[in-house]
Amino acid sequence: MNVLLIGPPGSGKGTQGKRLADLLSLEHLATGDLLRAEVDAGTELGRKAEEIMADGELVPDSVIIDLVMPKVRAANNRNGYLLDGFPRSVDQAVEARRLAEEYDATPDAVIYLDVPRDELKRRILARAESEGRIDDNEETVTNRLRVFDEATAPLVDYYRDRGLLHTVDAARTEDEVTESILAVLPKT
Ligand code: AMP
Repeated sequence: MNVLLIGPPGSGKGTQGKRLADLLSLEHLATGDLLRAEVDAGTELGRKAEEIMADGELVPDSVIIDLVMPKVRAANNRNGYLLDGFPRSVDQAVEARRLAEEYDATPDAVIYLDVPRDELKRRILARAESEGRIDDNEETVTNRLRVFDEATAPLVDYYRDRGLLHTVDAARTEDEVTESILAVLPKT
């Protein structure tokens, strides 16, 4: 099974992505984590992405597509993927679908993690204390939420129109959210 997890920063994509990937034996592909690994390793890609990420903007589509699509293809040849943080715009979704169709790796379901705005800010600033991510400060968070509204939120309609979207109330406990996601996923 192939699953996409979309939601604003702080909606729990990372946490739920890890849990679902474990429970369903899927490959957890988190584009933010892949990019942070490139930054930490000091690769050319990491050097290009670092400043963009620190500002809360999106790295260019071609960079992210070249990074993630080979992994999508490989995971599809195994038990499937759990993509967290990609696509982040309709342009990325269209290009990813074109490529995924070529190797029969299109998603079976898209989960949208829905959380009210004030709860998102509270969670991200709490995470800033515990994880120390450089993009979890108040100014960058505001920008990341704006980027979400402008670039990523239109994906909700895009996937609803394709009959793939499941909206989950993600302002509840981690266990409740995981259970709701498992309940809406197609049975394999
Ligand atoms: P995340 O860990 O998903 O919150 O991602 C952290 C940052 O990585 C984002 O704010 C973006 O700068 C970058 N990023 C992650 N995924 C993507 C993507 N699909 N497209 C462009 N930039 C991305």
